[in-house]
Amino acid sequence: MIETLTTFALRWVHSFQVEMIRYLFGAAGVALTYWLARRWTAPRRIQQRQATMADRRRELFLSVQTVAIFGLVGLIAFAAIRAGLIRIEKGPIDPTVFTAQLIVLIIMHDAYFYWMHRGLHLRALFRRAHAAHHVSRTPTSWASYAFAPIESVTESLYIPVLLIAMSAIMPVYSLAVFIFLGHQILRNAIGHSGHELAWSGFTRSRWTGWLTTTTHHDLHHSEGRYNFGLYFTWWDRMMGTEHPRYHEKFEAVAGRSKIASDPVLV
Ligand SMILES: [Zn+2]
Ligand SMILES: [Zn+2]
Repeated sequence: MIETLTTFALRWVHSFQVEMIRYLFGAAGVALTYWLARRWTAPRRIQQRQATMADRRRELFLSVQTVAIFGLVGLIAFAAIRAGLIRIEKGPIDPTVFTAQLIVLIIMHDAYFYWMHRGLHLRALFRRAHAAHHVSRTPTSWASYAFAPIESVTESLYIPVLLIAMSAIMPVYSLAVFIFLGHQILRNAIGHSGHELAWSGFTRSRWTGWLTTTTHHDLHHSEGRYNFGLYFTWWDRMMGTEHPRYHEKFEAVAGRSKIASDPVLV
């Protein structure tokens, strides 16, 4: 019993460290890169209002709390692996199966996030579960994991639930999960960065219009009632929840000059 508790405690510490590195890679990585390239990124700031240091501190504090909760939910996945409910593929990588698993992980996460997010916006849940994330009216990349504890749990339950479902069909490549998580934090941090770096025409093109942009999620933070999607615009378009002036707001930023004469700090 003591041995099992120690194993789980050590596992939690390990998960906390790994998830913290992932968060810092995304949040600090994007903040630093945009600051270093501020000559190009500054003219692309979406909102007039600037986030303060107090905003960033609050976002960082909530994100560290979220990382700790992610570690706890990660124990469910750990227990499921030990119980044989999640099966890890240990053999050589089959590129087709590997790619299929990665695509399934990303597409299903987008669907899960959209509907979970719509749920969190219901009057009964919003205040307790999601208002903390929306305190950031002008988000920064540090807000990537700035959630109330309830949202931290609902956000992270996706991993054990989907891995158990996938394992019922075939063992899962841990590298696919690793890349999925890397893609998740990068898109998340860029989506909260407050700067639109995509080019004019991006949202209307049939080649790129299905991808969400930073303006897409920034509008969700500044106005709240639209743009619930994560990686793709499909669900918002299908359910009629895309911001009615999304393209216009995007073009207003994307059409600006790429070089600032007077750089502003990110
Ligand atoms: Zn929301
Ligand atoms: Zn957000």
